[in-house]
Amino acid sequence: MKWSLRIGRLAGIDVFVHLTFPLLLAWIGLSYYLERRVLADAFGAIAFVILLFGIVVLHELGHALTARRFGIPTRDITLLPIGGVARLEKMPEEPGQEFLVAVAGPAVNVALAAVCAALLFGLGLPLIDESPDLITGNPLRSLLWVNIALAVFNMIPAFPMDGGRVLRALLAMRLDYVRATRIAATIGQSLAVAFGFIGLMGNPLLVFIALFVWMGAAGESQVVQVRHALGGVPVRAAMIVDFRRLAPDETLRDAAGHVLAGFQQDFPVVDRSRLVGLLTRDDLVRGMAAEGPNARVDAVMRTEFETISASDMLEPAYLRLQASGLRSMPVLTAGTVVGLLTLENLAEFLMLQTAAGRRQAVRRG
Ligand SMILES: [Zn+2]
Repeated sequence: MKWSLRIGRLAGIDVFVHLTFPLLLAWIGLSYYLERRVLADAFGAIAFVILLFGIVVLHELGHALTARRFGIPTRDITLLPIGGVARLEKMPEEPGQEFLVAVAGPAVNVALAAVCAALLFGLGLPLIDESPDLITGNPLRSLLWVNIALAVFNMIPAFPMDGGRVLRALLAMRLDYVRATRIAATIGQSLAVAFGFIGLMGNPLLVFIALFVWMGAAGESQVVQVRHALGGVPVRAAMIVDFRRLAPDETLRDAAGHVLAGFQQDFPVVDRSRLVGLLTRDDLVRGMAAEGPNARVDAVMRTEFETISASDMLEPAYLRLQASGLRSMPVLTAGTVVGLLTLENLAEFLMLQTAAGRRQAVRRG
């Protein structure tokens, strides 16, 4: 993630903090100091927030280590001011596995809360404070309630909360994945409307959560529909076959002519049927400005880019294309360029697939 700082490595997973996080700490410390004029309270507040995020890391590790048991690695864990994100390489497709991965995070909080409650009980201290103050009160009691709050918040049955995934996994045990997601997203968005409504009557935090949940539900539903439309389709079915190649010794002026003459923006550069580079429109514009129109294509083309085989599946190809940051990817068969996979063409393919799917559903219904 951009603007993140690596702070360490746990169980083989890099942990990052977003750069807004130190700002959050400073803001909390300052506002505590301004309110109470006691330096110790300000530092107490900062220490408490750091502890809080330590708990969030443990929560995310709960997800990551459960996913690892199903053979799914985690790229990294990032702490944002609003919470943590464990970036799993993919989500398990098996509903039972998704259920366990989603529930593992809140389960960590429940376990920590149970330990705190047991310790408080053992020390003969009450579980509930008369005048609760998370920062100056008994730290064990603060930890207990923070963990209970995190478990409850994360189990709200709405994406992007863990509860949304739990709900989808439970539905997917009976229904197909796309329908299960759509129902879970609808439940989540209804909840978001309810939160927003209650929030408008005096709780701005709830309005914020409502927005967060609304966007999470919409995003998840779209991701699943895309995956469904691409599932089981080979790259060959969606690639462009009518495209232009460039030779390494052509000039940028020639390349610009091809851009103006057609719809193509990115060009595979081929030397005696061997793919040697990719010239994107951005490369061309940058090259024109830096080297002038008479420069050769191979002087400005990029040599590091992703390629894919025509027989590969479209779904992982789409993910790779998105992750590459480029708009197109050359498609190879036995080392020869046979097509181009572009984001624009994929968007068109998806639109047609969705339309065809709807027509089928109407016929069936
Ligand atoms: Zn979680």
